[in-house]
Amino acid sequence: MKKIIYLDHNSTTPVHPEVLKAMVPFYKNQYGNASSLHAKGREARDAVDRAREALGDFLGTEPQDIVFTSGGTESDNFAIKGTLLRNKDSGKDHIITSQIEHSAVLATCRYLEKKGFKVTYVDVDKYGIVDLDQIKNSITDRTCLISIMHANNEVGTIQPIKEIAKIAKEKGVYFHTDAVQSFCKIPTNVEELGIDMLSISAHKIYGPKGIGALYIRKGVKIEPCQHGGNHERNLRAGTENVAAISGLSKAVELFKDDYTEKAKRVKLLRDRLHKGLSENIEELYLNGHPDLRLPNTLNLGFNYVEGESLLLNFDMKGICVSTGSACTSGSLEPSHVLAAMGIDTVISQGSVRFSLGDENTQEQIDYCISVIPKIVKKLRKMSPLVK
Ligand SMILES: *Cc1c(COP(=O)(O)O)cnc(C)c1O
Repeated sequence: MKKIIYLDHNSTTPVHPEVLKAMVPFYKNQYGNASSLHAKGREARDAVDRAREALGDFLGTEPQDIVFTSGGTESDNFAIKGTLLRNKDSGKDHIITSQIEHSAVLATCRYLEKKGFKVTYVDVDKYGIVDLDQIKNSITDRTCLISIMHANNEVGTIQPIKEIAKIAKEKGVYFHTDAVQSFCKIPTNVEELGIDMLSISAHKIYGPKGIGALYIRKGVKIEPCQHGGNHERNLRAGTENVAAISGLSKAVELFKDDYTEKAKRVKLLRDRLHKGLSENIEELYLNGHPDLRLPNTLNLGFNYVEGESLLLNFDMKGICVSTGSACTSGSLEPSHVLAAMGIDTVISQGSVRFSLGDENTQEQIDYCISVIPKIVKKLRKMSPLVK
């Protein structure tokens, strides 16, 4: 089989062998329902409790503040719809978000707009950083929630969420952050950051797909996201996915003590890739903030070529990357993130995201540096855009 160099970790990550090992018992002997009162049930309940404790601990909060969900998308939907539906009768029907959110947030907001809620989509600068003054000036008596992502999935730009949290608190508005990309890469202590709600997902951190969590600060008024039995403090009914919850917890445990060191290693590889490509390719642009950026993310604009052609040609060499976000690939619409940043469409259409991970090696990066410039050269030769 062809050797694969996987540089698409912001789309998803491989399940860590230790994570898989932690999950297997729940598909075998430990099959109990966590709501059952007998020995088998208690076994499952213990596993869920332990996972909740581990996650709460890592986020700097109490286990009771964690609700397990089916992933980042559900957590975002839950946080936004849950607070708006619950608080609209007290006249709170306004959301402030940004133009560069993940579709899980943007599509939820657009849905609520159709249902009569008001949404403000604040601008970002050329690096993808939100306009704090615009957030401040958009707040009215009707504002219920500010939802701004911690780090962007396409370009990696990290938002000043501590400042946003402070603004929200001063005005008595809830603050939710989609931390799916920042979780286990940069600090996400909810107390230090002053966050009311925070979304995470397991499959971006070497855990299984289909499991995530929403942190909900005590006192936040929110509607349940699913109705049924008394699971998850009556906020999310449904028999707990004990295996996946244990997998999520194991994935976090594997990052807990040394995620900053892991991030440093990945950042060195990323910067090596950036340097190597810059030295060998003319008119190469970095999309995103040079410093305030996720350590693993490198979004580059290759002038005069189509991102899709780059992706397909990289793929033929075993290099996996993405253009735009995974959810919008297949469409030739320019990325909404790059458009909001004011990136020229010629550059944005030739933009590719490299997102590195723990299993990438220097050898793999050096292979990319040797192969990619040749591909770019070949494609530019065929490009009608080149003068
Ligand atoms: C991947 C991602 C999501 C969606 O998470 P799922 O678990 O796949 O539903 C949401 N927000 C961001 C920023 C993401 O990168």
